[in-house]
Amino acid sequence: MRKLSFCLSTILLLTGLAYADQLPLPAQVRASARLLTLPVKLALLYPRQPDEKLIVPVAGVRVREIGNSWHAPRAGGRLHEGQDIFAKRGTAVYSATDGYVVRVGENTLGGHTVWVMGAGGRSYYYAHLDAYAPNLAVGDHVTPQTVLGYVGTTGNAIGTPPHLHFGVYTSAGAVDPRPLLTDRP
Ligand SMILES: [Zn+2]
Repeated sequence: MRKLSFCLSTILLLTGLAYADQLPLPAQVRASARLLTLPVKLALLYPRQPDEKLIVPVAGVRVREIGNSWHAPRAGGRLHEGQDIFAKRGTAVYSATDGYVVRVGENTLGGHTVWVMGAGGRSYYYAHLDAYAPNLAVGDHVTPQTVLGYVGTTGNAIGTPPHLHFGVYTSAGAVDPRPLLTDRP
């Protein structure tokens, strides 16, 4: 009986946490609840069918305007594992899919970057951002209407025309996002 009530209260607690970010709780409580439940939410993404269409993540850019830079040669014998989407500095960068923010941070090549995990456990990489959207945080649920940041030239894009580097990764490695891209309505 004691075991049962323990199980029940655990389930109640987890359910409460899962919905905590929709309740009128203090921002810090909601943020902690989002982080605590993130592993469960990510685990639930894996069995889902990966998105067949990715909405162009840069505001005002059509698919036909995106030059193909997939596997273009890069310094050090690397191949370009993504697509560069050019736009004016400061143009809004949206999530291309539904998903959860799993990382917000700086790295040498990418500069200001955001990682989003979507259905099927696919990862979406947004790099060279000029800045992040205000209050963007790990654990946030995002949709193609969510602004992640703004087009820039951070990381190894310094000195190039402003663009978003958009990468898509599966457990088997990088895949070309271009054939999956569709115009933003
Ligand atoms: Zn790039």
